Amino acid sequence: MNKKQDLLAMTIDELELIMDTIGEKTYRAKQLFSWLHKGVLSFDQMTNIPKSTREKLSRNFYITHLKELKQLNSRDGLTTKYLYLLPDDNIIECVVMEYSYGTTLCLSTQVGCKMGCSFCASTKAGLIRDLTAGEMLAQVLYVNKALLEKEKKAIRGLVLMGSGEPLDNYNNTLKFLQLVHDPQGLNIGYRNITLSTCGLVPEIRALAEEGLSINLAVSLHAPNDSIRGKIMRVGRAYRIKDIIDACSFYFKKTGRRITFEYAMINKINDKLDHAKELANLLKGFPCHVNIIPLNQVKESELKRSNNESVQAFIKILEEKGVQVTRRREMGADVDGACGQLRSTFIAEKQK
Ligand code: SF4
Repeated sequence: MNKKQDLLAMTIDELELIMDTIGEKTYRAKQLFSWLHKGVLSFDQMTNIPKSTREKLSRNFYITHLKELKQLNSRDGLTTKYLYLLPDDNIIECVVMEYSYGTTLCLSTQVGCKMGCSFCASTKAGLIRDLTAGEMLAQVLYVNKALLEKEKKAIRGLVLMGSGEPLDNYNNTLKFLQLVHDPQGLNIGYRNITLSTCGLVPEIRALAEEGLSINLAVSLHAPNDSIRGKIMRVGRAYRIKDIIDACSFYFKKTGRRITFEYAMINKINDKLDHAKELANLLKGFPCHVNIIPLNQVKESELKRSNNESVQAFIKILEEKGVQVTRRREMGADVDGACGQLRSTFIAEKQK
């Protein structure tokens, strides 16, 4: 691993401290920050910073580089998946999705994941390592630069829903949010950012205390603890009741309505009684339920529910006054599920 520090992971305050420490004027920090957040990776291109300063920086620091291994475009043209190689040879993926309200990037926060959800390809080899704030930011900068060059459009929103559990990498995720929101950088509004969690109760409460107005999406996927514990290992650690209490606290602190993700799995969580149980659980709570037929991965035996079951499930929630939508399925033809493209790529390499 590189012993030098990554400049991409630094706030302007931290860059000012660095400039001061290396005997340079602190206003250079803003110039540097601006170059970095435009996706400039080479010190040579930072032409308004003196050569001697750039040399000092390159001797003591580095800028995270990602190497694009693969880019896959879905047939409908609405989804592009990117596979990147990190400097330590780990591989991560992220996906760009076109919505009516703008281009959104779904990024990874860890290499692998230790949460063990039974339907997820990202967790099969466990957690390999956390991503740094700079590595998360690099995904946004790389994709943003590519989109601007090719299509003259920028990323408008972010979802932290790729590989990894963002709240299991709490400090790096928080720093990344701060960096990407900085008005002197990409200036992505907190309201345009959604963090998805499998339901880590203490961290949801901690995030609420930060007072950021980011959207919270909780992967619920079951109407009771018994079913949840069977398909999500984390369901054995935290009860649904405690997750809802933490979400209620999050809503009180941020004013942001919670989204509950519900992947419908054939014969596991898709019965009409499950819909009724879910409706009772969420009655009166300021939330929205996102239903998605399971995105099947070859690493799991679980199958998606059929269309009739999905429709009937949604109808019951609607009748009981729960706000519900069926999430648009995106990128199934480009290994759209979390971690799937990465695991396919690694398996092919090992053949
Ligand atoms: S669904 Fe998310 S939290 Fe669960 S194993 Fe996959 S990456 Fe981890």
